[in-house]
Amino acid sequence: MAWEIFYPAGPFALLPLNDDADGTHRSSLVWTVSEADGAGVMKLGDRAFLAEVEKRMGGVLGKVKTVGHRSSWPLGFHHTAKITSERLALIGDSAHGIHPIAGQGLNLGLRDVGALVEVLAVGARLGLDPGDPELLKRYETWRGLDSFMVALATDGLTRLFGVPGKTASAVRRLGMAAVQRTPMLKSFFMDEARGVSGDLPEILRA
Ligand SMILES: Cc1cc2nc3c(=O)[nH]c(=O)nc-3n(C[C@H](O)[C@H](O)[C@H](O)COP(=O)(O)OP(=O)(O)OC[C@H]3O[C@@H](n4cnc5c(N)ncnc54)[C@H](O)[C@@H]3O)c2cc1C
Repeated sequence: MAWEIFYPAGPFALLPLNDDADGTHRSSLVWTVSEADGAGVMKLGDRAFLAEVEKRMGGVLGKVKTVGHRSSWPLGFHHTAKITSERLALIGDSAHGIHPIAGQGLNLGLRDVGALVEVLAVGARLGLDPGDPELLKRYETWRGLDSFMVALATDGLTRLFGVPGKTASAVRRLGMAAVQRTPMLKSFFMDEARGVSGDLPEILRA
């Protein structure tokens, strides 16, 4: 089971890995902190680090111990209109890097794969080389708008949820309640979240 807890600085996620040889459960931990706190968290000793982690986990997985090493990366927003070149097509996070707040990165990547496979299959039926520039261009055009819109929406959501203060929080709660009470809006947002809206590749339409 994956856990994702949203704090003002961003998500704190516990993502399941395979059990150890002795059956011990293992998770990968992603802890988003503000830029100013990053270096401090990296410098914490193991005991202090685990105490902070357990506090943020709210006891969902019980007692934890560290087995791996810590690494830190800056969270960034990466989007490029050009995802193909000579005999090259980028898919997944190599083509777009978005904030994990809305959990859309993998969905976008699967749509990239589906679109690329579909375009190449059509090309193969016409006897074209898989590296044909026209085919790659078709893939790039197909995926460009969707990945840009999702990246934009995700960035907007991150900024919206990052606005501090009680008024901002009340506005967010009102907005969420309105979505919850309006079936059309609710199903629109659910389709977006499940990654089943827009011009889907055939393989993802089933
Ligand atoms: C906390 C968190 C929660 C998320 N939740 C969701 C969610 O609910 N839904 C969703 O759709 N998305 C979610 N995402 C996003 C999702 O995890 C990514 O978008 C997705 O994993 C990207 O897949 P990928 O295969 O493109 O890249 P990656 O998963 O990053 O895979 C790239 C692989 O390449 C390897 N690699 C890198 N460099 C080299 C090299 N030089 N040589 C060989 N191998 C190399 C890496 O080790 C890695 O295994 C979340 C992300 C985070 C951080």
